[in-house]
Amino acid sequence: MCRYYFGSINGKFWNGVQDSDDALDFGAVEIRDYGFYLCDCDTEEPTEGNYCRECFESYDDHMKAIQEEGIEDDQMWYERAGARYELIDLDIVLDKICQLEHQVGHLISSYTLNEDLEYEVKSECWDKMTRHEEKLLARLCLGRQIAAAIQKNGSCLFYAES
Ligand SMILES: [Zn+2]
Repeated sequence: MCRYYFGSINGKFWNGVQDSDDALDFGAVEIRDYGFYLCDCDTEEPTEGNYCRECFESYDDHMKAIQEEGIEDDQMWYERAGARYELIDLDIVLDKICQLEHQVGHLISSYTLNEDLEYEVKSECWDKMTRHEEKLLARLCLGRQIAAAIQKNGSCLFYAES
């Protein structure tokens, strides 16, 4: 299954190698998204007793509609798949990149970023790499993207499929 990410940076997580929360390693803040049952409106992480004020008159109305629909959950809302990640601290990102460069930087023969900050990486030694090296390499590639985004826009915000 391909998991993409898009926003300030764009790309695809490495299948079977890279977690979709890999950016946490560079100091990312993870933002989860929530939706209300039935109307599917967006909401911040809701607290007890919250309901969709756009679509329902009261908590009881919303709850009654949910129960009539037969949704068996003790909540009005659900967590959406995927998450958003936000990074603003370039120093943390560059520090981490520096460590990764020492570990696996030599495995990269070329790395380019296009206008959408999508990267292309080439290596001469894919078949000799250990799984651990691949994991770190995937992270390094992501880190370089993130750093480029912060340098360009002052921040890096992207949505990641999980
Ligand atoms: Zn609604």
